[in-house]
Amino acid sequence: MNILVINCGSSSLKFQLINSDSEEVLAKGICERIGIEGSRIVYQPQGGEKETIESPMPNHTQAIQLVIDSLMNEKTGVIKSLDEIGAIGHRVVHGGEKFASSTLLTEDVLAAIEECNDLAPLHNPANLIGINACKELMPNTPMVGVFDTAFHQTMPEKAYIYGLPYEYYQKYKVRRYGFHGTSHSYVSKKATEIVGKPYDSLKTIVCHLGNGASISAVMNGKSVDTSMGLTPLEGLIMGTRSGDIDPAIMEFIMKKENLDIDGMMNVLNKKSGVQGMSGLTSDFRDINAGIAAGNERAVMAMDAFCYRVAKYVGAYVAAMNGVDVIAFTAGVGENDGVVRGKVCEYLGYLGITMDAEANKVRGEERVISTPDSKVKVCVIPTNEELAIARETRALV
Ligand code: ADP
Repeated sequence: MNILVINCGSSSLKFQLINSDSEEVLAKGICERIGIEGSRIVYQPQGGEKETIESPMPNHTQAIQLVIDSLMNEKTGVIKSLDEIGAIGHRVVHGGEKFASSTLLTEDVLAAIEECNDLAPLHNPANLIGINACKELMPNTPMVGVFDTAFHQTMPEKAYIYGLPYEYYQKYKVRRYGFHGTSHSYVSKKATEIVGKPYDSLKTIVCHLGNGASISAVMNGKSVDTSMGLTPLEGLIMGTRSGDIDPAIMEFIMKKENLDIDGMMNVLNKKSGVQGMSGLTSDFRDINAGIAAGNERAVMAMDAFCYRVAKYVGAYVAAMNGVDVIAFTAGVGENDGVVRGKVCEYLGYLGITMDAEANKVRGEERVISTPDSKVKVCVIPTNEELAIARETRALV
């Protein structure tokens, strides 16, 4: 069965058509600048060249129509009719406490997702727009929602509750939810293949280090803690997000810089992190280039980023009373041996010894610790689209 995987943002829409039997990606692409001047679709069939088509996309329905047109294009298309799409899997960012697993998108479920909009005002409404656009154009194709938060719903109360008046949890559901769950689940399952131990008796720490970054502690197949919170702002220092800070800094800076709350949130989400610290960009390739050129703030940003990751690893070793595997994934985790090496320099107390040669790996699954290392450290490329396709297939 072919599954169309959709990851819909407010002005962009990523898609992949995956054959769920062979797990091959038949075609993939992205619609950019939806609802904005200069919109375009980038489309690439399996084994073919990437092509970019400039085309007006006033709304997401038009974007999905262009995706369908590309998939069925006479020359570069990969299917002949819409009947060849057996199901659609949608990434949904926030499932609140309502969704602890993926689910078929019925009218009731859509209403329940809408109720979570409050918790993710930037993401969930966009996800719903994508779902509704697909429903309009392919009304008879079953659809599944796969939630970023679902995998972390197994966290115990002591891990998800904040040190705030309890009524905020009761009234507004203010608690830690965690994100990147599809990735943490996929990578922690893959880790079992690498160490040859069953999922239900393994302690894994997954370091998902991309532009957004989070860490999770996965014990016996369940997420028991993770670094992102009510929103994706908490935890690690990220590309442009601050991660953990003293909350009182907000009032202090708002007064000094004459910012309102929207201005402050914009600083914390978009102008902080590695970009804000270095004054360069959020991209670790630029940070590494800056370090090579002797830029001291690039060195500082790299050091602070890695130190924060190492501190969270230490915390999660304590949370699980041990660790068998530490897995690095996502853009930085898969590609940047400097980051992996620096993080692991702090972890000698766990009996970790690194294989410097193996740690040069980029974007490939590989064990990067030595055979006698007490904890296995590995690179495991994430594949959220495949994980969504698998979940979707399982449900339809
Ligand atoms: P997201 O999905 O959060 O946008 P990704 O997981 O795609 O992020 O990661 C993107 C980031 O990965 C880039 O911003 C960059 O910092 C990092 N990255 C990508 N390739 C490399 C590389 N070769 N070396 C170091 N960092 C890289």
